[in-house]
Amino acid sequence: MQELQKVCGYVAIIGRPNVGKSTLMNQLLKRKMTITSKRPQTTRHSITCILTDEQQALQMVLVDTPGINFNTQHHVMKWMHQQAVSALKHLDLRVWIIEAGHWEEHDQIICEMLVPLAEKTIVIINKIDKVKDKLKILEHMQTLSDMGFRKIIPLSATKEQNFSVLFKMAREVLPISDYYYPIEQQATCTKEFMAAEVVREKLMRYLGQEIPYECTVMIDNFEIDPSNSLHKIQATIYAGNDRHKKVIVGTEGQQLKAIGQAARLTLEGMFKQKVFLKLWVKVKDSWAAHKEAITQFGLEE
Ligand code: GDP
Ligand code: MG
Repeated sequence: MQELQKVCGYVAIIGRPNVGKSTLMNQLLKRKMTITSKRPQTTRHSITCILTDEQQALQMVLVDTPGINFNTQHHVMKWMHQQAVSALKHLDLRVWIIEAGHWEEHDQIICEMLVPLAEKTIVIINKIDKVKDKLKILEHMQTLSDMGFRKIIPLSATKEQNFSVLFKMAREVLPISDYYYPIEQQATCTKEFMAAEVVREKLMRYLGQEIPYECTVMIDNFEIDPSNSLHKIQATIYAGNDRHKKVIVGTEGQQLKAIGQAARLTLEGMFKQKVFLKLWVKVKDSWAAHKEAITQFGLEE
């Protein structure tokens, strides 16, 4: 069998609330795939997950595009739109999720945003299990196809498993490229992983590139209170040396406090729950810390 050439690129999952983005992501994550804790160097987006399908020789680096999956209650301002559209333009692929037989104003807004980028946008019509009249789905597919969208995939995130179709179609759109992230590190996209990534992202934002690069963030404890869903997270930032530790903590702990607050707010947005986040800073031999992180996230082969 001839070996497939590798394809790889940055991908955004887009869709109004309740179309099934999380469900689809969770299903995708059940497949064998890869995620790494490496930092994104070439994109201004933050990475949420890395999906690698070795059969398809494909790697999708999923990124978060703030301002796209906005809340319906909030008024969408023009500048925000423009910001969002320009952020989307630089991606290799967009996967837009809509709901079969259910179209809202919010879908229309996203649709208009994506039409100029339709050639590199795949549309997923989700929840087809809920629609009795399948002809309606076909009609909708035709309309979207006439608008220029590259591929339209009807599926059911809860009932069907044919996600390989998405990978197959993504192959045609993504550029031929080596993987951006190594595949020998495997893990699932857990909340713990996401929490560590967010803390790391804030370290970058507050401290620039150099110091955070040598840091390891470890989640010591992650508990969800069954009574009120409060997410209680305790994490340690392992600094490369004493000087780094001092910078991270800041005068009277101000820097660490700011980093913690920013991380908490981002995590509350991601988890849609209240978050309690406690951060510590310790100095550690960086190799040992790296090794621990690898074990913690199940990144070992
Ligand atoms: P998100 O807001 O886009 O992340 O949407 P969620 O993934 O939270 O899904 C919203 C609701 O739609 C949940 O109740 C899901 O169980 C349901 N849902 C998602 N995918 C499907 C599907 O394929 N079929 C059906 N019937 N329900 C689905
Ligand atoms: Mg969701």
